[in-house]
Order: sequence, then structure tokens, then C-alpha cells
Amino acid sequence: MSEGFNELRWNPLLGCWVIVSSRRAVRPWRAVEKCPFCPGAEETGYGWDVIVLDNKYPALKRDARKSREGVDFYRVEEAYGAAKVVVETPEHTGDLDTVPFSNLVKYVELLASLTEEECRDSRIEYVLPFRNKGEVIGVSLTHPHSQVYVLPFVPPRVKREYEMMRQHRAERGGCLICDILELERKEGARLVYENRAFTAFLPFFAMWPYEVHVYPRRHIESLTGLEPEEKALLADALKVVTAAYNALFGFSLPYMMVFHQKPCRGYEGFHMHVEFYPVHRSADKLKYPAGIEWGGWVFTYDALPEEKAEELRRAAVKAVENLKRSGYKPRGEVSSGQAGE
Ligand SMILES: [Zn+2]
Ligand SMILES: [Zn+2]
Ligand SMILES: [Zn+2]
Repeated sequence: MSEGFNELRWNPLLGCWVIVSSRRAVRPWRAVEKCPFCPGAEETGYGWDVIVLDNKYPALKRDARKSREGVDFYRVEEAYGAAKVVVETPEHTGDLDTVPFSNLVKYVELLASLTEEECRDSRIEYVLPFRNKGEVIGVSLTHPHSQVYVLPFVPPRVKREYEMMRQHRAERGGCLICDILELERKEGARLVYENRAFTAFLPFFAMWPYEVHVYPRRHIESLTGLEPEEKALLADALKVVTAAYNALFGFSLPYMMVFHQKPCRGYEGFHMHVEFYPVHRSADKLKYPAGIEWGGWVFTYDALPEEKAEELRRAAVKAVENLKRSGYKPRGEVSSGQAGE
């Protein structure tokens, strides 16, 4: 039987690539008998704390084959690249807030070294680590894990961010992300948590009800530019943000978490950051991106971001207490929500 096809098809209407893979449909859905990520499984073995695996059903691969040639502006390319899985703990259940801190630091280190290694391949343009958590987001395996897509093109969203950073620099002479940090910290109302190197906040311009961005306050372009101490402080910020999410409604909150960093080549001046998009708008209601969001790329926000930030700060206070009880001492402070910190 054929190994299937992995190809990129160009969407001429939106100017972006769609990754098409013909074997992806058979990937296991939740009810696999044995967890493939637990210690002792075929792929994982024993004696590890954090492990990088190849995705068994990768959307992109280095020996990708296309099913057909393109025609005219219907372009088709091989989906050259890789899809990796990073399992953050041998424990079958939990989230980034329950994963041991040393694992989390190692996790950040691994993402940085994967970025560096994959970018050595001149056909690779971008390394995109992300984490999907929760059944409502369609996560097929519940064992805590992240994914890393190694792409032969720069994702449109990252291109757009860079274009806005470039424009801002041309008009104002500074870095957009550094300047967003300055505005957020000056106003204070949407800050959630801060340690010596990172600020976590619900942005003024949030699109998801409980969206949180985590920015390094030093102008760092990519994960590979983080100093060892900053990697630990990023791990700390991720731990506290997920703990705050899980304290918000009293259940483990589904979310998407995405690392935005400088592409492999060019894009000088990009400022790396992490974005969280939880899909809930209340304990029992989801914010489903529907007609206006998908059809128009217009997001509606049904509250004031400052109110949602206040809820998150209260959850973060609870979360910090919980973390301390479990033996972890956060490296920073929950924000007071006041101006000029
Ligand atoms: Zn497991
Ligand atoms: Zn910057
Ligand atoms: Zn971003």
C-alpha cells in the first residue's frame, strides 16, 4: 500500500498554502487502547522525563510525495518538513502547571534546540511549536504533549505580524512588541503575571475572551536567543498562566498555545512571544469561531478585556496558592492591576 501523499496546495484566493496529506484521516481518535506516550509504549520506552517523537502521521515529511502536478496558478509542492511531538511528562494526565518544573525548563530548551537544528536545513523556513489541550479542541490524545511543525514556508500570521512590526518601526522607530509591553505595563489593567524576564497579560486587542500573551521584556528574536535563566523564567510564566487557567472555572481549561518566533532566515527585528487562546467564554459556553470570525476574520469580544483580565488575576492568585501548596514557588508576582508598575 502506498505511503500516502503529503503536498502543499496554493490557495490563490487568500495567498496561503494548505497542507494536504492523504493518510492523516486514519490517525487514532481518543479511544486508542494503550496510550502511545506512556512509558513502556513502543515509541517511548523507559527512562525519560521529556521526550521528542516523530509524529506517526505527519502532515509534512522530508520524503513527501505529491499526488499530482500543479496546473497554471493551481500550484502543488511537496509538503517538505516534519511534524514532531514533545511529550512533557511520563505522567498520563495533567497540564503544564502539574508537569515538574525541571521538565518544563527542559521542554523550553528542547524547543529551542529543535528550532536551531531544523533551521540548518535550507529548505526549512519556520519552526512552529504549539500545544492543543482539551477535547473541545479535538485533541486525540490526552497525555500531555505539544507539537512542533517544521515548515517550508513562513505562516501567514507570522508574516502579518512581521509586516506590522516593520511598519511600526518605520513610523515610530521602535519595536512593536516592546512598545505594546510598555503600553500594557503603563496601564496595568490587563496585566496578569510578571517575573524578572516575562510579562503575561490579556492584550488590549484580544480576540479570544481569555487570550493571554507572554512576552519577554528583553528584545529577543527567537527561542534560540534565550539565556538559560530566561528559559527557566519562560517555563515559570507558562506554568503560572496554565495554573491560572485551570483555577478559573475549577476544571482543566482547554486552550491552544502557540510560539511565535523569527523565521529561520531574514525577518530581522522580530520579537518572539507566546500566545494562548482558550476557547471558553464562560464556564459552560464556548466561543466558537463562526460566520463573522471565519467568514470575515472579524472577531467580536463579548465583554471588556479589562474585566476578563481581572477574572484571570483572581484565578492567578488562587493558582499561585495551589502551586505553593504543591511545593512550587513562582518566580514572579501576580499583577495588582494598577497602573505604572
Ligand atoms: Zn499516557
Ligand atoms: Zn522588541
Ligand atoms: Zn504572535
